[in-house]
Amino acid sequence: MQELWNWQEILGQFEPEGKIAEVIPYGSGHINDTFRVTMEEKSGRKRYILQRMNVNIFYDPRALMENIVNVTSFLRKKILERGGDPDRETLNVIPSRAGESFYQDMTGNYWRLYRFIENATSYDQAERPEDFYQSALAFGRFQQQLADFPAGSLHETIPDFHNTPARLEALKKALEEDKCGRAAQAGNEARFILEREAFTHILSDKLKCGEIPLRVTHNDTKLNNIMIDNGTGKGICVIDLDTVMPGLALHDYGDSIRFGASTAAEDETDLSKVSCDMELFEAYTKGFLEGCGKSLTTAELSLLPVGAKMMTLECGMRFLTDYLQGDTYFKIHWEGQNLARCRTQLKLVQDMEEKWEQMNAIAAKYRHKG
Ligand code: ADP
Ligand code: MG
Ligand code: MG
Repeated sequence: MQELWNWQEILGQFEPEGKIAEVIPYGSGHINDTFRVTMEEKSGRKRYILQRMNVNIFYDPRALMENIVNVTSFLRKKILERGGDPDRETLNVIPSRAGESFYQDMTGNYWRLYRFIENATSYDQAERPEDFYQSALAFGRFQQQLADFPAGSLHETIPDFHNTPARLEALKKALEEDKCGRAAQAGNEARFILEREAFTHILSDKLKCGEIPLRVTHNDTKLNNIMIDNGTGKGICVIDLDTVMPGLALHDYGDSIRFGASTAAEDETDLSKVSCDMELFEAYTKGFLEGCGKSLTTAELSLLPVGAKMMTLECGMRFLTDYLQGDTYFKIHWEGQNLARCRTQLKLVQDMEEKWEQMNAIAAKYRHKG
């Protein structure tokens, strides 16, 4: 893929001055094309991350980069204030020579350059509950550092991303239209979701009436979006800020539980294998609340299990909607995969309902220790 690009032309648009020593495809991200760049500069060898942004998914790269620049410069100040290392503890956008946060080439590709975070690794798989705990700690700290950031000033780059009632309306429409004649196969799943209609409004209602605050959310809280220090094993930096948007802390928390505390793959067809693991739930909750410190409100703290269940139900709704519409959003590798994905999410919801008291007890155990 490398040969396609004229690195000299692209990298020449950015501020660093020097000779390009190496450019290699890097990492295992699925969204952007990522390259590690090594430059010979006057001060020595320096490394960078160069990315070709995926504009099929993010169709407003300018708004997206504005969000990233605003959030990372805010973080940089915070990190400096407490004597941290702002080159390693936040992403740093390297501006273009034209003073922009990206460079748009002649054929319409958008490129951006970050400082490379040295001596740290992003892991694709959690090996132990400890890894999950570390990612929770890092995402919690991210919340805490951005607690006084004006979240409302961020662009909503994907409108209504976690507007659960709107997601439900989209599902109802897809059921009604039944474009692919698949609604009959999904009767039980549709019923399960519709029975929980009142629940879908809880968080959006509380946001509307000011009971819970609008916050900066990451929206892609996977383990591999955390850089773990090679020496200490601690999460030092949250990366991949493409989906940073205004939202609820409970969205980030809930989504992490949804995919991270599940005992099975997202498309497992043997539902007896699917449950919400309470050990992992506890590890994440502990880490997240430690990371958040005192920044969450009492209302938010009391709603952690609601956040987990909401994100899981919402995700189930999205898989079902996509199944009904002919699998146009979530890629499938086999027929019925999106229905299978919906079923695992609903199984998780059911399991959470059964473990509701336990989940609340775990959340209560850690919420006073911030
Ligand atoms: P995607 O949206 O495609 O997942 P990411 O921004 O997460 O893209 O980048 C892909 C991978 O590149 C990351 O998982 C990480 O391994 C690596 N990476 C990204 N940014 C940096 C950085 N600033 N320093 C070091 N490695 C990085
Ligand atoms: Mg990533
Ligand atoms: Mg990403």
